[in-house]
Amino acid sequence: EAKATGKNRYVFYTAEEEGSAFKRLDLEKNMRNAIVNACNEFEVYYQPIVDVSKPDHPCMGAEALIRWNCESLGFISPTEFIPLAEYLGLINPIGDHVLLQSCRRCKHWNDSGHPEYKVNVNLSVVQLLRNDMAERVKNVLQRTGLNPGNLTLEVTESLAINDMTRMKRILGQIKELGVWVALDDFGTGYSSLNHIREMPIDVIKIDRCFIEDLGNDEFSDAFVRIVCELASVIGMKVCVEGMEHERQYEILKKMQIHMIQGFYFDKPMKVEDFEKKYL
Ligand code: C2E
Ligand code: MG
Ligand code: MG
Ligand code: MG
Repeated sequence: EAKATGKNRYVFYTAEEEGSAFKRLDLEKNMRNAIVNACNEFEVYYQPIVDVSKPDHPCMGAEALIRWNCESLGFISPTEFIPLAEYLGLINPIGDHVLLQSCRRCKHWNDSGHPEYKVNVNLSVVQLLRNDMAERVKNVLQRTGLNPGNLTLEVTESLAINDMTRMKRILGQIKELGVWVALDDFGTGYSSLNHIREMPIDVIKIDRCFIEDLGNDEFSDAFVRIVCELASVIGMKVCVEGMEHERQYEILKKMQIHMIQGFYFDKPMKVEDFEKKYL
């Protein structure tokens, strides 16, 4: 049975999937509730990012990663609820909340002896395509007092080509503020390599799937090497995500990588734990 969900859009349900449709409805109800309740059930975790361009590989800040501990459904992963929030048009209030919290936190780190710490915040494509996104970012920076250069916004390349012009325009406005832009999950999206040259970005984040088999798979090794080379030609930095093992670290240390993030150093942590260890 096909059901219309909007203009020209149909979703097909099978008997088996009915259960998940109910679950989705339940998630939706709870998500709306969480937003109405000042987003209190959402918690921002921080995963350290290490600067491997410096000799002692110090922490240079963290990526903000949202967690949802729903009162009635329990813990729900962002990979599950972020896409639904985007679909339901609820990502903006959630994203605004994460941006404000993260900028406040980073300002606190900067004022507590770490003026160099940066915070990375993920932006959904939906947020990015808001015409006033740059203005919103500017307001959050003013409100929190965070130095624009200490904020990095992470965007993914999973965009239709016809949105590229608009995306580039808004990213350009964001960069004019002095905020950094990172291209997240690089290598898994739809865009061609040529796009990275045209996009106003500062950092390429190589997706975890290329790091997993590093040292055991020629393609992965070559991919990381080639991206580093391309990045240096166009003046971008490279961040690697998902590094879990010493073996990968040894290989990456020999490449032109600027930043590394991964369970090898730390998992995403509660803010108190991050600050206990790194502040
Ligand atoms: P992402 O932006 O690519 O974030 C990195 C993900 O990789 C995080 O998953 C992190 O916990 C995980 N990770 C980091 N190091 C390792 C590692 O060494 N091994 C493994 N196995 N995983 C590692 P997480 O926190 O579950 O977030 C998943 C995705 O959800 C994020 O991927 C991002 O796309 C999205 N997300 C999270 N928070 C937000 C948010 O505030 N806003 C938006 N729009 N999306 C968010
Ligand atoms: Mg990210
Ligand atoms: Mg992301
Ligand atoms: Mg990623």
